[in-house]
Amino acid sequence: MPNKCCECGGDVRKLACSGRIMKHKNLEFEIPEEFEIFTCLNCGEEFMNLDCARKLDQILEQMYIDRKIMLKNSDEVHEQRARKLFDKAWKMAREEYPGAAETLVRDVAYNLLRSAILLAEARCNYRPSSDMRLKELK
Ligand SMILES: [Zn+2]
Repeated sequence: MPNKCCECGGDVRKLACSGRIMKHKNLEFEIPEEFEIFTCLNCGEEFMNLDCARKLDQILEQMYIDRKIMLKNSDEVHEQRARKLFDKAWKMAREEYPGAAETLVRDVAYNLLRSAILLAEARCNYRPSSDMRLKELK
């Protein structure tokens, strides 16, 4: 490793610090605080030999796998909850229209959930502050 930076001639030292972001397979990860990289103390240019780059690549790959598992788990949880919610809507529709055909019950359950989504969206878009501002202007 060079002792002097080839960009600016500043001193190069092994540096471990937080806040170093690196892309790996299109996702961004923070390099572990304790991971040492030869860094120019003057301009911040980082220098990695093959060994260092390989180590970092392994760490990033593990972080990537961990994040993928986390996202997959949360997708599965959402799917389970969505199933439960749909079962509830189905039950409500069934109680509302006893003896109705399955397809009708399904349509009612579907519309119930669709209305719930529209309500949720309307509530998210509702901004009391802007409404009050409008009244003030009038
Ligand atoms: Zn430098």
